[in-house]
Amino acid sequence: MAAQKRAAAAKAAKSAASTGTSITRAAAVQARVQAAAANAIRTIVAAVTAVVTSTPIVTIVSAVLAVVLLIIALLAFFAPASAAACSATSGGRIDPTKVPTTSISGYGHEQLVNAAYIIQAAQDKGLNVRDQTIGVMTAMGESSLRVLDYGDAVGPDSRGLFQQRDNWGPLSERMDPYISAGKFFDAMVRNVPDPERQTLAPTLVAHRTQINADPYHYERFWTPATAVVAALSGLDSDLISGGGSCNNVPGIPGEIGLDGWARPGSGPINGGFGPREVIQTPQGPTQPFHYGLDLEAGGCGGPVWAARDGEVTRVFDGGGGGMIIEIDHGKGLMTWYVHSYANEISVTAGQKVKAGQQIALTGSSGYSTGCHLHFEVHLNGTAIDPLPILTAAGLTY
Ligand SMILES: [Zn+2]
Repeated sequence: MAAQKRAAAAKAAKSAASTGTSITRAAAVQARVQAAAANAIRTIVAAVTAVVTSTPIVTIVSAVLAVVLLIIALLAFFAPASAAACSATSGGRIDPTKVPTTSISGYGHEQLVNAAYIIQAAQDKGLNVRDQTIGVMTAMGESSLRVLDYGDAVGPDSRGLFQQRDNWGPLSERMDPYISAGKFFDAMVRNVPDPERQTLAPTLVAHRTQINADPYHYERFWTPATAVVAALSGLDSDLISGGGSCNNVPGIPGEIGLDGWARPGSGPINGGFGPREVIQTPQGPTQPFHYGLDLEAGGCGGPVWAARDGEVTRVFDGGGGGMIIEIDHGKGLMTWYVHSYANEISVTAGQKVKAGQQIALTGSSGYSTGCHLHFEVHLNGTAIDPLPILTAAGLTY
């Protein structure tokens, strides 16, 4: 009961935080609506004023036109408002100067700041979180997310995050993380337009933009890129995708393998299933047997994904404040996702989830010494080793 109360309190806290964000956004939308309405009203007033001085037919036509314009303006400004509120859930606004000193999937502070500029450049062009992630993935594959002031054998004149050559623009622009990312995204939209881009494999989108030798060069950077984007987007708004008030927003999708299994978190593996020496944590000692698979899962704030289609049966405190998300997949199969913080869990009991859907951020609640995902698979109530299952599904670590 206490756990349920705590979860409810955390949920309330989370919705309070979300409300703060929505108020700002709603105010911005409101301001735009008012500006549009004011413009339309000015046109009407001008037209009505003209009635007294000009030929009646022309002025009546312009008055009618102005009313139509007013309606169109209101519709245009109201319609995207709700969509914007939802899509924001899958990618918060990022201030590159406020990226904390941390490491995500092996990328340090300098690299994360550059990733934040890439995400910002994409957001400023109205590109969605998948497109943003493709940008980060490409820069990982080109420069390890560093503004390089040198090229390689193939392109001795290549520079910057995206290793852009002389024909991409002046050196100062290619060495600027925000401007060079903008150039990348312009080329991406031009070379791989919608709707094709949204279904084409990310590495192929990058390949057709960069025109590099190996079309699959960028593939291995997709998982770390999703972890980095998820973590950065969660800094100043709560990026908790695939849940909250926008359950129709898929968030950052995880990789799905064979037979419907998905990667619950990105690697590497920090600990396997089986007997293990007792570890002292701030909450107390761990058990001598490790019932799950420990994954780095992007470190603090990385994405946690549902390993199969199923229904969330419980979100509860498994002891020492360690939050557990339990998903029932039917036929006696259950999965557990442990250590996320209560306010960074985006699903609730009774909610249906899809394989690869983001359900939480990686945390360190409970018997844990650092952010990671502890993943368990239960068959008819007994914990079994998750690794052979994932490996058989083609999801290797
Ligand atoms: Zn563990």
